[in-house]
Amino acid sequence: MTAQKTRQKPKNQADRKPEGRKPELRGLTLPEISRIVDEMNEPAYRAGQIASWVYKKAAGSVDEMTNLSKSLRTELADRASLNPLTPVRRSKSRHGPTTKYLFELQDGQKVETVLIGGSRRNTLCISTQVGCAIGCRFCASGLEGLVRNMTSAEIVDQVVQVKQQVMLAGDDRPINNIVVMGMGEPLANYRQVLRAVRIINADWGLGIGARKITLSTSGLVPKIYQLAEEKIQFELSVSLHAADDRTRTSIVPLNRRFPLKQLMKACRHYTGTTDRIITYEYVLLKGVNDRFQDAENLVKLLKKDKCKLNLIPYNQVQGLPYETPDEHRRTAFADALRAGGLQLTIRRERGRDIDAACGQLRLAESRRSG
Ligand code: SAH
Ligand code: SF4
Repeated sequence: MTAQKTRQKPKNQADRKPEGRKPELRGLTLPEISRIVDEMNEPAYRAGQIASWVYKKAAGSVDEMTNLSKSLRTELADRASLNPLTPVRRSKSRHGPTTKYLFELQDGQKVETVLIGGSRRNTLCISTQVGCAIGCRFCASGLEGLVRNMTSAEIVDQVVQVKQQVMLAGDDRPINNIVVMGMGEPLANYRQVLRAVRIINADWGLGIGARKITLSTSGLVPKIYQLAEEKIQFELSVSLHAADDRTRTSIVPLNRRFPLKQLMKACRHYTGTTDRIITYEYVLLKGVNDRFQDAENLVKLLKKDKCKLNLIPYNQVQGLPYETPDEHRRTAFADALRAGGLQLTIRRERGRDIDAACGQLRLAESRRSG
């Protein structure tokens, strides 16, 4: 942001926010932008213009908002900041339609965002925390613990920036699918994440349909109850990964606090209250949760539920002892589930060469520079 010599005095000195505590524009709702516009004694339609610059036109600074007068831009920059994430690296998979972006935040922390191209649409996988406190044994994101929560502006900016890059690259497939499955546990950063997905969904924001936005949780039970009360249509995925407490606790330590019985009760409450079907995620780990007994337990656990199951081949993380079972075993596991009456999908492996599982690129980067 540039301080201009021609700057006019703000109309009301008392309305000025103290320096250093300015809100980030990319994390504000239209009503909040309207309040700033109101404080500046500007006509109401300015809020829509500003929101359009912030969310649709991906402005990199207030100065780019050329349909606002220079003095208005200066005054806006006085009251709010626009600090986009800095793109650090982009790697495109040789095998699949996956591109991974590494962004640097204002404090130098790095997060990753993954673009997954489909035949007609693009899906974006976004991060919500730097690191993760949950510490699932097989996951790269949990290895260093939680560094910090991301702000709503940082979460939303991943979508704004990649959308812009996709457009500039001449890709005519829109980003119309968001999965909150990058680094971090979204429900552990509840307020910022909910604010961010509401902005991503809003017409004045990114305009992506609520049913095209999926939140994934490792099973923070109280937050699942809270989410059920939000009266929103976002999709929910729950990372199950095992159907008995012993196995689940050994790979998802959160299971000690919220064992399967509590988790399933919360999930059933969620479906009952919202009428939304939950997708259970199941990362296949060789010799850990891919045995015939595991398939049987899974059928027993889920067969009465209205739900979907997504089997994910494990993306190996350097330094961790887990492996994905071979294709034959994966197929046998899936067949046993189908025979038990479960509806399931199997996620394709994508982008193994670019460390495309959550937390892996950041880890690779910190190992490279460390
Ligand atoms: N923290 C949330 C969302 C981010 S992780 C959660 O755990 O649900 C998104 C999904 O990726 C989870 O299902 C997680 O278990 C899975 N995952 C993590 N590391 C993986 C890996 N190396 N290979 C495949 N899936 C992985
Ligand atoms: Fe955190 Fe999800 Fe990774 Fe578990 S799988 S450590 S909850 S990001």
